[in-house]
Amino acid sequence: MIETELYDLENDDFETSIAAAGKVIARGGTVVFPTETVYGLGADATNADAVAKIFKAKGRPGDNPLIVHVSDVAQVGALVKTVPEKAKKLAEAFWPGPLTLIMARSERVPDRVTAGLLTVAVRFPSHPAAKALIDAAGTPIAAPSANISGRPSPTKSNHVLEDMIGKVDAILIDADTEVGLESTVMDMTSEPPTMLRPGGVTVRQIEEIIGKIELSPNITENIIPEKAKSPGMKYKHYAPKGIMVIARGSDDEKVAKIISAIKGLGPDDMPAILATDETMRHYQRGLIVSLGSRDDPESMSHNLFARLRDFDAMGVTHIFAEEITMSDETMALNNRMYKAAGYTFI
Ligand code: AMP
Ligand code: MG
Repeated sequence: MIETELYDLENDDFETSIAAAGKVIARGGTVVFPTETVYGLGADATNADAVAKIFKAKGRPGDNPLIVHVSDVAQVGALVKTVPEKAKKLAEAFWPGPLTLIMARSERVPDRVTAGLLTVAVRFPSHPAAKALIDAAGTPIAAPSANISGRPSPTKSNHVLEDMIGKVDAILIDADTEVGLESTVMDMTSEPPTMLRPGGVTVRQIEEIIGKIELSPNITENIIPEKAKSPGMKYKHYAPKGIMVIARGSDDEKVAKIISAIKGLGPDDMPAILATDETMRHYQRGLIVSLGSRDDPESMSHNLFARLRDFDAMGVTHIFAEEITMSDETMALNNRMYKAAGYTFI
């Protein structure tokens, strides 16, 4: 166990807290900090020993590379070989913000950060505390999401306290994160560039700036319904403790499938239904929770991980989620929901 220093950015003095946390990073320690996407678990991106502590705290497999966070576009030059023209355009359009750009890495970036890859993922977050922390540390910060590996990413300070107390040197406590899903990851080393992970910036928004992009098979095979891999595939990602399945079909079909599945459960099971504002009223039995309104994909995205963690806290054993209609704006949400459910559908 590590002694974890706690700083409350909303109630303690902001400058003092950031300065103290910056020192922790500068001396090779780990700090959990808020970003606009989810809370991150950071360390000095140029210090391999410091970065190793991130993998240990999360229990993250060493072959999963980290995103390097900068607080100024000028810091990117030292991390990469060159910045491709289209990467410049995307950075201009969406930085600071929830977009990660993968480029050929420079010698300066330790292997530990990139898991030995010759590329590095870079993001300039828009959250003022993230920017202030990177500035105070005086170094780019490597940071994955601040959850124990496999669990839903943390969007509220109580999530990081739950997962990271005793595992990191400091935690910056702040309000709920705004986007609630991780950044969009774009590989800028291919032509056309390839989206590896959908996130806060959508395909349409990116194509408006640089034209046609490709979607990684990892996205299309898993989230385009007709190409979805077979049920039962188990990915440990964003996973709640209960068994989660996604109900497909028309509204009537989804409701009927969920009601019938719940009827088949035993007396010790505690089912929850993840519905929407528009469909909640169709259910009577089980813990009935809305993800948000179908008219507001941003708020559904914002709510997803917190709902899954609430279910864990309440001891829910089975989660029945209604499938959300696929669109440019719900692609990231669907990607996370499918993964959370291990691609299991009813
Ligand atoms: P997380 O920080 O937990 O949101 O995870 C970072 C994501 O970026 C993971 O999906 C990584 O696999 C991905 N990533 C980071 N660096 C690279 C890279 N150099 N090439 C491809 N994917 C990367
Ligand atoms: Mg993560």
